[in-house]
Amino acid sequence: MEAKIVVLPGDGIGPEVTAEALRILEAVAKRGNHSFAYDTQLMGGCSIDRHGVALTGEALAACQASSAVLLGAVGGPKWDDPSAKVRPEQGLLALRKGLGVFANLRPVKVHPALIDSSPLKPERLAGVDILVIRELTGGLYFGQPKGRDVKDGHERAVDTLEYHDFEVQRVVELAFRLANDRKRKVTSVDKANVLESSRLWRQISTSIGKANPGIALDHMLVDTASMRLITSPGSFDVLVTENMFGDILTDEASVLAGSMGMLPSASIGNGGPGLYEPIHGSAPDIAGKGIANPVGTILSAAMLLRHSLGLPAEAAAIEAAVYRTIADGCRTADLGGSLGASRMTDEILKRL
Ligand code: NAD
Repeated sequence: MEAKIVVLPGDGIGPEVTAEALRILEAVAKRGNHSFAYDTQLMGGCSIDRHGVALTGEALAACQASSAVLLGAVGGPKWDDPSAKVRPEQGLLALRKGLGVFANLRPVKVHPALIDSSPLKPERLAGVDILVIRELTGGLYFGQPKGRDVKDGHERAVDTLEYHDFEVQRVVELAFRLANDRKRKVTSVDKANVLESSRLWRQISTSIGKANPGIALDHMLVDTASMRLITSPGSFDVLVTENMFGDILTDEASVLAGSMGMLPSASIGNGGPGLYEPIHGSAPDIAGKGIANPVGTILSAAMLLRHSLGLPAEAAAIEAAVYRTIADGCRTADLGGSLGASRMTDEILKRL
C-alpha cells in the first residue's frame, strides 16, 4: 500500500525518538512492499523559533492531507514562560482540533520482565492490560466562556465544562467497538453525583450499553477510579472518560508500566488522519545524549499501522518484536540498562 505520513519531530528528544520509529516503519515497508512517503514539518518550540507560531497553517494543512501523523514531543525550558503569548502546547491543541481527533487511546500493558520497574507491588500488576480512552476535543479545555475579569472588586477566573450529546456518543461508541476485540468490559468514568455534564455522559453511555448487551458496562466515579487504578488495575479492560478526568487518569495509569518511555498513544476521529505519539514529553534533561527510550514512539508507529493504515499484522509484528526485545533483557537507561536509542532499535529490528 501507499501512504503519506507527516512527521512532526518537535523538540528535545522528539527528533531522536521519531528517527528510530521511522527506521522500524521503513523495515516494515520493505518487508511488505509498502511505500510510505514522509513529509517532515515543524511543530512546537522549533516552529515558534522559525515562524513565531507553534503550528503554521501550512503544517496543519499538510497533516490534514496525510494518511497519518507521527509526533515526537514539544516544549522545553526555552519556551516555558507561563506568561508568553505563544507556547508550544498551542500547536498540540490546534492539531487535535484541526484533525478532529476526538479520542485519545492509551494502552497500558505491564511487561512481565519490567514488573520490578513499577512502583506497585508485583502481585497487583499481574495481567494488567488496560485501554484508557480520553475524550480529547470537548469539555473544560475547550468550553466557552473562559477567561478573567473583575467582579465585585475581586479578580475572577472562569472555565466552562460543556459537552454535547454527539461528543459523548461518538467516543463511548468507539470504546464499545474497541472492547469488542478485548475482554468486553467498559468502565465509564464520570462525576455524575455532582456535575450535570457527567449526568449527560452517564445517560448516553447507559443507552449505548443497552444497545450492546454483549459488553459489560460499569459506571464509576472518577475519585473511585483513581483509587482502583492503583489498588486493582487488573480489574479494568476499557476505561472511557471525559477530557480532564482522562488527562489525569491516563498519566496515573501510565505509571503502572514503569517508565514514561515505554507507552504509546493514538488520537483518532471519524476516518481522517490519526495522530500518533509517545505519552512522554520532550525530556530536556536527556535531550541530545542519544539515550532516550524509543519504545513509546515505536509502539505509536505500530498503532499508526493498525488504526490509520489498516495493517494490523504489521502492527502486531512490531509489538511482538518489542516484547521479545524486552524479554531478552535489552534495556535503555530509564529501565536501568545501558543501550542508547539506536542500539535499542537495532535489537528490535533484529527481532522484527
Ligand atoms: P517528560 O515526559 O519530558 O520527562 C519526565 C521524565 O521522564 C524526565 O526525567 C525524562 O528524562 C524522562 N523521560 C521521558 N521520556 C523518556 C524517554 N523516552 N526515555 C527515557 N526517559 C524519558 O516530562 P516533563 O519533564 O514534565 O516535560 C518536559 C517538557 O515536555 C515540558 O516542556 C513539557 O511541557 C513538555 N511535554 C510535552 C508533551 C507532548 O509533547 N505531548 C507531553 C508532556 C510534556
